[in-house]
Amino acid sequence: MNLRYRISQFMYGRYASYGIDLLTKVLAVFCIILSVLNLFVGSFLIYITETALFFYMFYRLFSRNIYKRQDENRNFTGIFGKIKDSFNFHRRRHSERHTHIYKKCPHCSVMLRLPRRSGEHTVCCPRCKNNFKVKVR
Ligand SMILES: [Zn+2]
Repeated sequence: MNLRYRISQFMYGRYASYGIDLLTKVLAVFCIILSVLNLFVGSFLIYITETALFFYMFYRLFSRNIYKRQDENRNFTGIFGKIKDSFNFHRRRHSERHTHIYKKCPHCSVMLRLPRRSGEHTVCCPRCKNNFKVKVR
């Protein structure tokens, strides 16, 4: 028996044989960041956290409970997507701060992106069709 065959037999039916998911990638990045950080800080708490994340990552990779691991990844991807969307929104809002303003509709609370033209304007919300006044300096 060669080694390649033994490894493929060991990995058969395990979660890692379906590819590396987002949660595993994020865990790996966190492990690397924490271990580099711990080179400078030298904290036992960071060491324990880093080791726990490392073992959790490998537990997931070698797990045979595929559905549970996929479920964990699905939940994580949802949370991660919301954080990413929020980050992208604030980045866009900052990069457009000279050309556009963002105002919440007072009736339905939807965020509106308006061109920055100084003066007082009447805005019609595209969702609830309510008019409200906006002052732009
Ligand atoms: Zn509205």
